Amino acid sequence: MVIGFICACLPENDGRANAFFQKISFFLKRPATVDRKETSLSNDRVMPTTLIKNIGEFFTGKLASPIAEVDSLLIRNGCIAELNPSGELDSDITINAEGLAVLPGLVDGHVHPVFGEWTPTQDASSWIGNYMHGGSTSMISAGELHTPGLDYNNLTADLVTSLAEVTCSTTGGTRWSGVKLHAGTVLLVPGMTEHHFDRLAKAGSILAKFIFFPLEEARDQAEQYSDWCRVRGIRTKVHTGGVSRSGSSRICGFDTLSWLQPDVAAHVSGGPIPMSDKDLDRVIDETEFALEICSSGNYRSTLRAVLRLKENNRLDRLTLGTDTPGGTGVIPRGMLRNLLFLTGVCELTPGEAIAVATGNTATAHGLTVGTLEIGAPADLLIAGPVLGSAGNTLADAIAHGDLPGISFVLVDGMVIVNTRSEQTPPPATIAHF
Ligand SMILES: [Zn+2]
Repeated sequence: MVIGFICACLPENDGRANAFFQKISFFLKRPATVDRKETSLSNDRVMPTTLIKNIGEFFTGKLASPIAEVDSLLIRNGCIAELNPSGELDSDITINAEGLAVLPGLVDGHVHPVFGEWTPTQDASSWIGNYMHGGSTSMISAGELHTPGLDYNNLTADLVTSLAEVTCSTTGGTRWSGVKLHAGTVLLVPGMTEHHFDRLAKAGSILAKFIFFPLEEARDQAEQYSDWCRVRGIRTKVHTGGVSRSGSSRICGFDTLSWLQPDVAAHVSGGPIPMSDKDLDRVIDETEFALEICSSGNYRSTLRAVLRLKENNRLDRLTLGTDTPGGTGVIPRGMLRNLLFLTGVCELTPGEAIAVATGNTATAHGLTVGTLEIGAPADLLIAGPVLGSAGNTLADAIAHGDLPGISFVLVDGMVIVNTRSEQTPPPATIAHF
């Protein structure tokens, strides 16, 4: 689909277009299985050098300094090599951003993959590619709990470990539609030994999830699991709030979180049912770990949480995810909608909201994507306001809560979407080669 889309955008019999296509065709046709690390593609071929010029707005993905004066950038070997490069530049590809904004690709911190691009949850296919057209270039699984036939009441240590291993090397071993998907998140259950965590580390799991685990009944074991994860570089996430669609998840509020100390507390404003207001306030005021807001949540609790984090000057703890596919649905523009809730309703600045949706979420999960700086993977979007939207800039539009239009998506410097996204309206101005 992506190759066809790019081919369709290239004019026929245009020598420059053909030369360009030859340069990128290797990458488009190469086997999708790549180095799972979020750093640049590992291969010994020379990758094209790409210049993006006429950038109108530049978002860094860093909360401390979310915007910068950058009007051009150079991508070499999949990473950002120079900002505002000067002098004669020998680039293979030049993209004219036509004054549009450049921002990091969005990082969806909470997805539920099952089998590649198909999700049995809503019997939908191509969901990863559709999300990519909605701006998400990295995703982190919060567990493959929608695997058909999985009996939540009879999960064994070997079964959950094997499921994570299989998912790591299948759904998680391939760049579906170019997206960096970190799958193989184990659903922790009682009875696991250190050997199970060795297996998870060897498979490449980056996250382990407490959702069905009886935290209060087996506190020592939960703390042991957290330690085993941390020494292996695996982060921990816990389902918070009331029972999920599974009907089998454990409820979790301040009391449990205060001793468990996960790396990320999932959907603290509900997924779908939030913890009590009192618990939410205490979690924000009295703990230090990352707090995730998801599309599956309660809008009222989301507003409460974000305003309180802002008041406490702790937006650095805030991360985003869609918590989909799931009962909430399949939402290709879900991450953009989360970001717009932060700007339009919670009144974060556009730069802050983008940093939460990118750098913050990546960092909380131990990933190095999500920021645009020299040496960082060139995972980025070129986007702008849609015709008829508030203001003439991306910042004005998203400050008003308006969906932006995506023109280009790049992952590791490779153009995955050009001209316009299939999932957003086109921006009023279109970037081009
Ligand atoms: Zn979830």
